[in-house]
Amino acid sequence: MTDCIFCKIIEKEIPSYPVYEDDMVYAFLDITQTTKGHTLVIPKKHVTDIFEYDEKLASDVFTRIPKIARAIEQAFPDMVGLNMVNNNKEAAYQSVFHSHVHLIPRYGKEDDFS
Ligand code: 5GP
Ligand code: ZN
Repeated sequence: MTDCIFCKIIEKEIPSYPVYEDDMVYAFLDITQTTKGHTLVIPKKHVTDIFEYDEKLASDVFTRIPKIARAIEQAFPDMVGLNMVNNNKEAAYQSVFHSHVHLIPRYGKEDDFS
């Protein structure tokens, strides 16, 4: 999709900080670091939201998430937990319409993100 910001990030037309990449998915730091290490995981295929996934795409994305979570944990060993968030459609606070999963590391009481 030519006017999709995340497709442009995949194509490296817009810079991003990579966390993990393979043929099917790209994971990169969110420009807004809700907490340190806040990462977005996106399928390389443009789909708007979870309602456009088939089983294969769901498997491609979600089976990689544990590996990506461990990569974040290695980079930020002081994390003590992690929220996985996926917003679908405007009413659910989706703001970029290329499906993505937020991985938000938690650092205990001091991270003041609730
Ligand atoms: P949503 O609100 O759709 O669940 O999340 C979209 C996320 O994309 C937001 O957390 C926002 O900070 C992030 N975002 C928007 N534009 C960019 C960008 O150009 N680069 C990066 N790395 N993140 C972005
Ligand atoms: Zn896209």
